[in-house]
Amino acid sequence: MNTHEVLKELISINSYSINKSGVDRKNCYIWDQLCDLPLKRTLHKSKMYGDLMHLQSNDYSPNSKTITLVLHSDTVHKEDESSPILMSGNKLYGPGAIDMQASIFVVIELLKKLSENDQLVNINIIFNTAEEKGSPEFQEVFKTISKESNYIFVYEPSDPGRYNPDEEIFKTQFELVTSRKGIFQQKIVTIGPGGHSGSLATKAERKNAIEQAICMMKEIQDLANYDKGTTVNLAYINGGRENTVIAEKCEFTFDVRFTYQEERERVKEEITKILKTEFVSGVEVEDLGYSYDLPPLEPNRNSAKLLSIAQEVGKDLGMEIIGNGRGGWSDACNMYIYNPNAMIIDGLGPKGDGEHTNNEFVYLDTIEPAIRLSEEIVKRIRYS
Ligand SMILES: [Zn+2]
Repeated sequence: MNTHEVLKELISINSYSINKSGVDRKNCYIWDQLCDLPLKRTLHKSKMYGDLMHLQSNDYSPNSKTITLVLHSDTVHKEDESSPILMSGNKLYGPGAIDMQASIFVVIELLKKLSENDQLVNINIIFNTAEEKGSPEFQEVFKTISKESNYIFVYEPSDPGRYNPDEEIFKTQFELVTSRKGIFQQKIVTIGPGGHSGSLATKAERKNAIEQAICMMKEIQDLANYDKGTTVNLAYINGGRENTVIAEKCEFTFDVRFTYQEERERVKEEITKILKTEFVSGVEVEDLGYSYDLPPLEPNRNSAKLLSIAQEVGKDLGMEIIGNGRGGWSDACNMYIYNPNAMIIDGLGPKGDGEHTNNEFVYLDTIEPAIRLSEEIVKRIRYS
């Protein structure tokens, strides 16, 4: 089977995160491509999501350097979405094409090459099934494998970079990720007794739920620290019901992104204080909790070291490799939080665009360079 057929087949199996049978089918198809290699497969069961697939090289010793490759087979694309799989020049469009079915193809080919060259040694591969939902399950698996890993490669797409896709250099310039922001999203409700806005005339009687919410939101917004990369987004507000009624209820949601774990702690502590502050006497505050609460991949020395290895390798291959921080979350953060001493790099997938849209595509001619880059980094690590 050639590149395009396997990749098209990967894309055509719907693996929306909560389509459990679809995600399981996808992992099965991936295993079909790999089952002749000296790998053993472990499935970690889930009721809600697909079963996480962990592969490990048969040749595995605790005394050698361990490399873990992290991917996710789930996508954000629902079954009833109508985005066809189609080829247009150098681009292959389809749901999940770049996030991250093309990366799965890269790793399938990488593993075959490593096996051919007797390099399939001390390697773990994780095919997560719920990354697009913030990996709410399998944390014990991430923890165990992360702690065993010296090097961690995460296969979110490489950034499109600064070159035009028509230029020759485009396909050999890769922008890897050395840090990612963490995120938490929280929902708050304020509840007051309400009342007639014409009859209640003293300040003490007017216990307005919207007023309490606004005072809190202002203070929460002020917790941003742009120098440290901490931002706050007041995302959604819904409250009150009639001009003549003092608002009984107001609900709001906000989203905090942070580069550093200590910023996460600071903002959370401050929010706890704000929630306890009675800006409007007689209005109660209820914390409805987090919808996401995920750690960052902090800028760190080990990721910088692995980036420089990738850059040396890139030079030898005639590739230009640069490193950058990215705002969005990925499983790289998950792995980092359990083992900050590992060397972690993300963005090792090929290049494309339109992630999470109906126009998602991969640049087909960046697949081969992505495979070569990973293969050579593995060799460099083994022989250094
Ligand atoms: Zn992804």
